Amino acid sequence: MGKIKRRPTRVVYVGDVGIGGDNRIVIQSMTNTPTKDVSKTLNQINKLYESGCEIVRVAVPDDDSLYALKDICKNSPIPVVADIHFNYKYAIKAIDFGISKLRINPGNIGEIWKVKEVVKAAKEKRVPIRIGVNAGSLEKDILQKYGHPTPEAMVESALRHVQILEDLDFYDIVISLKASDILTTIEAYKLMARKRDYPLHIGITEAGTIFSGAVRSAVGLGILLYEGIGDTIRVSLTGDPVEEIKTAFLILEGLGLREDFVRVISCPTCARAEINVEDLAKKVENALIGFRKNLHVAVMGCAVNGPGEAREADYGIAGGKGEGLIFKKGKIIGKYKEGELVERLLEVIKKDKDNG
Ligand code: SF4
Repeated sequence: MGKIKRRPTRVVYVGDVGIGGDNRIVIQSMTNTPTKDVSKTLNQINKLYESGCEIVRVAVPDDDSLYALKDICKNSPIPVVADIHFNYKYAIKAIDFGISKLRINPGNIGEIWKVKEVVKAAKEKRVPIRIGVNAGSLEKDILQKYGHPTPEAMVESALRHVQILEDLDFYDIVISLKASDILTTIEAYKLMARKRDYPLHIGITEAGTIFSGAVRSAVGLGILLYEGIGDTIRVSLTGDPVEEIKTAFLILEGLGLREDFVRVISCPTCARAEINVEDLAKKVENALIGFRKNLHVAVMGCAVNGPGEAREADYGIAGGKGEGLIFKKGKIIGKYKEGELVERLLEVIKKDKDNG
């Protein structure tokens, strides 16, 4: 199987997580709780972390959210990124409160002395800055020049922000260029990849609800990743952000770019199935979220074809009538009632993991 050759980039550190270069493609998400509600936000961050999220972004829309950052950063198991629009004082305070990355567009901050203050604080604490261009909020003059948010317009906008930082001798930069239109997003990233070697944060913005957003993200991000573009990804979904992590992993796993999660496969069922495969597959999938091991687990509807069809699987369930078989590397290791199958399967997987 061919391996995807990734675009060489600089390396930027977000806390202790490296982005770009030879580092694995990092999975991130964003909380959708009110940031000012520290316990709700930390609770969601912990759930994201347990499902495999490696960097988390929080929006900082007001003073209360800003001050909440202190406790959030102190207690978060993963590096926290502050998403700040315009307000340079928020940016400086957020850096002081322990964020690991700042998402702000320097061109939107205002006077250059304010940008200098932010850059000075970021340099002191080694906090990188993500420039995030969104097709929906391009500068007026750029929009006038191009007529509408074209890939070229997005890249010009991003380079304008990049130039401000480079002029201040700041290079810890990550760039994103998001549009809800998939082809515009792809072209914008391809264009940017030819202009600078900063790591790229890729995503399809406003992708949609869980199902449609996952599909649209898989199409857009899949094409970019296949071209070697993308150093950190965020799948944007309207729904529980844990679903973003699951989707991101599946996209990366599907392209052979990450192999440290469990992949659950399940059969589409047919008239041979006498067991609720959908229910079993969902339970297995949910129980193994965040189980950091390269495993393939199959949930198959029948014992006749199941283990054979799932030959590549490390473990699996093959249904019978109200009961099912558990198999490991194609060999049957036990027969259990339908209600016990998931629990038994997990026991086997966890025991094997503990035994190395
Ligand atoms: Fe049908 Fe069995 Fe194949 Fe599932 S595993 S699709 S039930 S033959």
